[in-house]
Amino acid sequence: MRIATRYAATLAAAAIALTACSSDAGDQAEDAAENTAEVNTDAEFEAGTTMAELNEAGSITIGTKFDQPGFGLLNPNTNTPEGFDVEIGKLIAAELGIEADDIEWTETVSANRESFIQNGNVNLVVATYTINDTRKQLVDFAGPYYEAGQDIMVAEGNPEGIEGPEDLAGKNVCSVEGSTPAENIRTNYPEAQLTLFDVYSKCADALRNGQVDAVTTDNVILTGLVEGGQGAFELVGNPFTEEPYGIGLALGDTEFRNWINDVLEEAFEDGRWADAWDRTAGAITGQEAPEPPSVDRY
Ligand code: GLU
Repeated sequence: MRIATRYAATLAAAAIALTACSSDAGDQAEDAAENTAEVNTDAEFEAGTTMAELNEAGSITIGTKFDQPGFGLLNPNTNTPEGFDVEIGKLIAAELGIEADDIEWTETVSANRESFIQNGNVNLVVATYTINDTRKQLVDFAGPYYEAGQDIMVAEGNPEGIEGPEDLAGKNVCSVEGSTPAENIRTNYPEAQLTLFDVYSKCADALRNGQVDAVTTDNVILTGLVEGGQGAFELVGNPFTEEPYGIGLALGDTEFRNWINDVLEEAFEDGRWADAWDRTAGAITGQEAPEPPSVDRY
């Protein structure tokens, strides 16, 4: 079943790649935007649930990253973000009966994800967002839908010989305020000199201009930055934490969380999840979709 659907997804991806080859950059952006999850026009939900409210409204606000190639990167031609997180958001919206065009995308950075959910600025956050117990005091999480791991990015050629977090002692390392990798360095590797920005693209700039010796965050984010760095950076490739990515939602909305978990499991099973990977992060990294994780129905 899974093999058959993966094969179909690969064929579909190949067809898209062929179309993209014959298009200019603008058309490619359109292809990506058009190739969205099929909207469930028959979706029906119990009155009073968040699902029913969103279905009735016909729109949803989703927070994601705008500067992370492969997961959430703003396309200036369409003024919408693209990436694996974005596709996961579209998939959930489609099952709520909401068209991709009716999703309002809001940039969430690492430090404002909890507050944006708590204040109702967004209905969901899909933004390389690690599920952990501290955050679970403030928000709930569906998923995980992907497992990343903290890693390190250095300048091409690794001039400082950094092979793991222990080698960061006495080095200038950049990460992002409000992120789990920054917290890990602060707590467990206090001899590293930590520089914090609000977004990872600023860390990449700091590494490029020599202001820092290394950047640390999740391996998949760094892989996107390495690809975007046109030979300026390399990944150490030695992940040292587990970062299960969840979909953040309002604390206590158990019906919505359970329903999103059902949607994720269906997408894992029928190949839509792997297809989303192949068209986004997989296309950048050349990596096949991994086995999907098991959702955590805590
Ligand atoms: N996954 C980690 C986190 O949620 C790092 C990536 C990020 O900052 O978005 O903090």
